[in-house]
Amino acid sequence: MSGADDAFAPTADMMTAGQARAALAAAVAPVPEREAVGLFEAAGRVLAADVVSGRAVPPRDNSAVDGYAVFADDLDPAGAVELPVTGRVAAGALSERPGRRGEAVRIFTGAPVPGGFDTILPQENCRERPGGRVALPAARRGSNLRRAGEDIGAGAVVLRAGTRLRPQEVGLAASIGLARLEVYRRPRIAVFSTGDELREPGGSADGAAIYDSNRAILAGLLGGLGCAVADFGIVPDTLAAVRATLVRAAAGCDAVLTSGGVSTGDEDHVRAAVEAEGRLDFWRVAIRPGRPLAFGRVRGVPFLGLPGNPVAVMVTFLMIARPLFLALAGAVPVPPRSFPVAAGFATRKRPGRREWLRATIRRTPDGGAVAERFPREGSGILTSMTASDGLIELPEALEHVAEGDLVEFVPFSELL
Ligand code: AMP
Ligand code: MG
Repeated sequence: MSGADDAFAPTADMMTAGQARAALAAAVAPVPEREAVGLFEAAGRVLAADVVSGRAVPPRDNSAVDGYAVFADDLDPAGAVELPVTGRVAAGALSERPGRRGEAVRIFTGAPVPGGFDTILPQENCRERPGGRVALPAARRGSNLRRAGEDIGAGAVVLRAGTRLRPQEVGLAASIGLARLEVYRRPRIAVFSTGDELREPGGSADGAAIYDSNRAILAGLLGGLGCAVADFGIVPDTLAAVRATLVRAAAGCDAVLTSGGVSTGDEDHVRAAVEAEGRLDFWRVAIRPGRPLAFGRVRGVPFLGLPGNPVAVMVTFLMIARPLFLALAGAVPVPPRSFPVAAGFATRKRPGRREWLRATIRRTPDGGAVAERFPREGSGILTSMTASDGLIELPEALEHVAEGDLVEFVPFSELL
C-alpha cells in the first residue's frame, strides 16, 4: 500500500458508515409546519397525515369489459346459449332495473352491473342474432366483474403519514375524491461550496479555476427528496468567510450543507469555522470515497460538511446523508433496496472501511447479469457517475472480491 493510502487507515476515533448514517438520521426531527397542496403539486412531497377513504372504490360492481351481463346459471357449460338482449348500460349510467334470469344486458367497460347479474362475457366471444338476441359461450361465474370496494373499502386507511408521494400515491388520493393533501413544509437547506478555485458555471474560468459542480449536484439531490435549496454560492477559503456564511446560512434554514474544505489541509477551514460558531460532533468516517465528512451544529442548526470531490459528494450524500434529509422532510425511513449481482471484476480492499464502487449492470448471454466496475477510481471523475447505473457496496470486513462473487448493488433509482 502506498503512503497516501495509509492515511486512510481506519482509527479508533473514526465512525463506521452505519454509525454515521444512524447519528445523522437521529439528529433531526420532521419540520413542524404542514401545508395543503393540490394533487398536481403533491408528487415528491411527504404526507403529514394518514389518508382515510370516505368511499368504496369502485363504488359499485361494474364491468371490466365491453360485452354482455348475465346470470352464470343461464349459461351452458357445454356450449353456446341464446338469450334476448333486454337492456343497455354504458359507463356513468345508473342501472335502474335489476337483472332478470333468462336475459342478457348489453354493457360497457366501467358501467354499473344491474343487480343480480354475476358474470360478464366479452363482446368478442359473443354473436349477435336476429331478433335482438345474442349467442353466449360458457364462462366462469364472476368473470370480468369488478366488485364494489375491491380496490379500496370505505373507511380504509389508504396512505400513511410519512409516505413520500409518488405519482401512484397521488392517483390513489384522487381516486377517493381528494383534491388536496396535507404535506410537510419543504425543509429549507442552505447550500454552499468552499474553494478559491471554484467559479460559477456560465461565467469565465481561466488558469487553475474549475467550475462548481457540487451545488448543482446537491440541488438536484435535495429537490428529489422534497427539500428546498437556499443557495449561498461559492465561499472563499478563509476562516472569516466560511464563519460568516455559516452564520447567515443557519439563520432561517433547517440544515446547512457544504462541500469542500473539511480535510486537514491549510486551506480547509470548514471544521474550524463550525467549531467557532457551534460544535463539531464528528468528521471522520471509515468509508471510501468520502472519509472527511463533518457533522455538527451551527447556532443549533444541523450542519453537514461533505468532501470536495464531486463523486465523493454524491456518494456520501446518497449513502450517509440521505436519511437525515428524509427525516427532516418527515418521511418514514424506507431502506433503499440493494440486489445481489455477480461481480464482473476482481478487486482487493482494505478491511475496516466500507467502500462503494461505481458500476453498470451488463446482461450476459445466458440471461444473467453481472456488475461491471467503472474502470477508473478517482473521485473527481464525474463521468464515472453519468456512465454508471448505481453503486456496489463492499462491507467493512471484506478484503477481496473474485470475479463471480455476489456483491450488493444499489441502483441510483433507489436513492434519488
Ligand atoms: P477539498 O476537500 O476542498 O480539498 O476539495 C477536494 C477536491 O475537490 C479539490 O480538487 C477541489 O478542487 C474539488 N472540489 C471542491 N469543491 C468542488 C466543487 N464545488 N465542484 C467541483 N470540484 C470541487
Ligand atoms: Mg478546497
